[in-house]
Amino acid sequence: LDEFEVIRKYFAELTPRRRDVSLGIGDDGAVVQVLPGHELVMTSDTLVERHHFFDDAAPYDIGWKSLAVGLSDLAAMAAVPQWCLLALTVPSTDNGWLKEFCRGFRELAGQHGVSLIGGDTSHGPASITITAFGTVQAGQAVRRTGAKAGDIVCVTGTLGDAALGLRMVQLKQNAQKDRKLFRRKSDPSHHLEDGFALNDVPTPEEFDFLRGRLDRPTPRIHSSQALRDYAHAMVDVSDGVVGDLQHILDASRVGAEVWADRLPASPAFKRLAPSAFTIQLQAAGGDDYELCVCLPAESVNEVRRKLNVPLTIIGRIVEQPGLRLVTGDGKTLPLKLTGFRHFR
Ligand code: ADP
Ligand code: MG
Repeated sequence: LDEFEVIRKYFAELTPRRRDVSLGIGDDGAVVQVLPGHELVMTSDTLVERHHFFDDAAPYDIGWKSLAVGLSDLAAMAAVPQWCLLALTVPSTDNGWLKEFCRGFRELAGQHGVSLIGGDTSHGPASITITAFGTVQAGQAVRRTGAKAGDIVCVTGTLGDAALGLRMVQLKQNAQKDRKLFRRKSDPSHHLEDGFALNDVPTPEEFDFLRGRLDRPTPRIHSSQALRDYAHAMVDVSDGVVGDLQHILDASRVGAEVWADRLPASPAFKRLAPSAFTIQLQAAGGDDYELCVCLPAESVNEVRRKLNVPLTIIGRIVEQPGLRLVTGDGKTLPLKLTGFRHFR
């Protein structure tokens, strides 16, 4: 298949038509209608093979996740997702990979009524760039700049599942390399280089849950719409909550106290994550795609009633700059936990 056949076969009809798309795939550019009184919110993210996904990752999941990270950014701005562009580089077009990629992509796009309106297709090492567009009523986008001393800091859902899922997949790959089964926890192949080991062998349900949290994150679009009217500042948690909250602190010129033992954890995480790594996974692991939001303390119960996921208070905003991670017995933990950065 050449480039144009690929576009026609896979992308031209991938997502439902929307009436606000005046011109979709097929011309030099797409044309969309933005409602009067609204603003466009735009975001772009790239996934690169072996950096952002395992080379054995399911193409369905890659299709899902490449869109999910863009929608998560829109959620962090409290924008409603509407359209997207897909710049795709693939080594080959005829092995079923694209079909599965498109299936995963379409599933998530369909859930949020997002229309694929254009992109670029080329040949080379696998890399996927999604540009996602959402809208907000003028002036309603939630930024990183509005956090105030006295606000509480909350997160949606649970933290650390994806980071634990990543370690779990690495352990499984090691075990398979040694032709061992992923079974006995006493087996030395069940340790990573830094000594990481699971507390127990995951059940199939736990394995699927954690791998799902890593490979098919749920962008918190619904929660973000409910949070919009209360949030002083918001980010999505993609590089660990400590690092991402720090972005809010820098932009808002405030500090925060975060309570390490209040970070929300799933049942699978609680059972399997080794205590020596719990904080690292929850505070500085990657790929949570939850929302971290600063809001007035008195609004939290009202907001909670509007969300379809738990909202947990994990700390508070203070005047003094810097982020202090505090344990239950009042000790301050060292903050080498700053999240992942490319080129560092
Ligand atoms: P141009 O050469 O003008 O950049 P292309 O030949 O790259 O246009 O693409 C033709 C049409 O197909 C354009 O409308 C473009 O937006 C769309 N397109 C190309 N690749 C993709 C893709 N991966 N997903 C969605 N639309 C795509
Ligand atoms: Mg082009």
